[in-house]
Amino acid sequence: MTMAVEPCPFFIGGDWLQPKLAGTPVFNPSTGEVIAECPAGTAAEANGAVAAAQVAFPGWMETPAVERARILGRFKMLLDDNFEDLVHSNTREHGKTLVESRGDVKRGIEVVEFALGVPSLMMGEVLENVARGIDCEAIRQPLGVCAGITPFNFPAMVPLWMYPIAIACGNTFVLKPSEKVPLTTIKIAKLLEKAGLPKGVLNIVHGGREVVDALLTHPQVKAVSFVGSTPIARQVYEIGTKYGKRVQANGGAKNYVILMPDAEVENSTRGVMEAAFGCAGERCMAGSTAVVVGGAEKTLLPTLVAATRRIKLGPTDREAQPDMGPVITRQHRDRVQELISRGEQQGAKVLADGRGATVSEAPGGFYVGATILDQVQSGMLVAKEEIFGPVLNVMHMDDLDAAIELVNQSSYGNGASIFTRSGKAAREFKHRAKAGMIGINIGVPASMAWFPFSGWNESFFGDLHMQGREGVQFFTQQKVTTSRWFGYGEGDIWHTEKK
Ligand code: NAD
Repeated sequence: MTMAVEPCPFFIGGDWLQPKLAGTPVFNPSTGEVIAECPAGTAAEANGAVAAAQVAFPGWMETPAVERARILGRFKMLLDDNFEDLVHSNTREHGKTLVESRGDVKRGIEVVEFALGVPSLMMGEVLENVARGIDCEAIRQPLGVCAGITPFNFPAMVPLWMYPIAIACGNTFVLKPSEKVPLTTIKIAKLLEKAGLPKGVLNIVHGGREVVDALLTHPQVKAVSFVGSTPIARQVYEIGTKYGKRVQANGGAKNYVILMPDAEVENSTRGVMEAAFGCAGERCMAGSTAVVVGGAEKTLLPTLVAATRRIKLGPTDREAQPDMGPVITRQHRDRVQELISRGEQQGAKVLADGRGATVSEAPGGFYVGATILDQVQSGMLVAKEEIFGPVLNVMHMDDLDAAIELVNQSSYGNGASIFTRSGKAAREFKHRAKAGMIGINIGVPASMAWFPFSGWNESFFGDLHMQGREGVQFFTQQKVTTSRWFGYGEGDIWHTEKK
């Protein structure tokens, strides 16, 4: 099956501009075919997009919040109407299954639903009589031009974490999507344009570091949202803040799933597998390490290994769907396989081996089978590196205290989960685990749009997280007005002061 090569235009000032620049190939990971070429934008395109966003800002800021919300309402309806088209686009460029893509798009739409509430979300505070005859009010105003830089693993959801809230609050936006998955972003932006968004409120510039650096250092960019790996998140935070911008930068992760001896076998096994192998492990909330506590391995591990070996790997770009799709690129597949081998060399036992997996109906695809590495120790490379592939590490601990200590030694802090039937153990874990999103009998405790996506430690750089009220706070600045009115003014006709 040969895919048509899709255009990958810039979107600047309301115009879709066909790039004259060479770019990087975008693959269908299921087959290895090139489906588009993502242009390598330069500082000139980035500056042009910021200029367009700057021109659009005054008019958009003055547009009443209810009118901005109405445009987002139409956008939400168009997203719903085009749901399956977006799902298939997402799967074609990313490789996750259609079921997983439905989750990706749905989670993104939920942020739009949240952002629709902007007239209430932006409401300020007033206190009458802070002193006699003096009132004080705090209102929220937009910042100006904001920028977003996004990763490959959630082509629909992660960009939608950012710009719906930013523009709902009256900002204008420049988005640089991942060069590996630019196509779903373009489709979604076309729907927002159709919903009536004025020109220049949302702009898209493709590319890599040159575009990112131009956005981070541009004096008119007031805030930057970033999602990606920890080294780049740190770099974006450092450069952006040095140039006086607000920055929220989500980084990588290494999340633990604690399995207590009393955990219910069938549901817990399903939960761990979904956490480790869902989206082929390419999730910042992947439960990539199972910590079996106090002999839980006796009941859980055999079931887990047997079920993992049964996972059907295959292409996701057709009607018959596998359990798990490919990883994003050939290079990434090779890196994941190399890390599995390093784990084995350092003493881990390979209980399920996904290296060298082949898929006969799609021999050019980027496949790694579901893998379990047992007896992983803290010092091993696989225990420290974010593998970002379908690899589950298994570690063994004597008791819950030791398991919590292990979780808390991590340099990351996105998610941590526990599977147990004990309320006491769950409460203890929830209270003491040093991670921003906790799951109790839930393997992927990613927060929904109404709550902050709350990474800790090196999974997040900044102060205000994406989504929820923190998202609104990030994209607005407060203005506090203290006022006093004197009598005897000209035109003060409704009441006569007695002298
Ligand atoms: P990445 O860091 O390679 O790329 C992210 C973005 O940064 C892309 O747009 C890319 O073009 C840009 N970029 C890459 N190198 C750059 C450089 N040197 N200078 C400036 N910009 C650069 O990440 P990825 O491989 O696309 O995505 C996977 C990573 O994202 C994983 O680490 C995953 O955990 C993380 N992630 C985190 C979250 C979260 O919310 N914490 C969510 C999704 C993904």
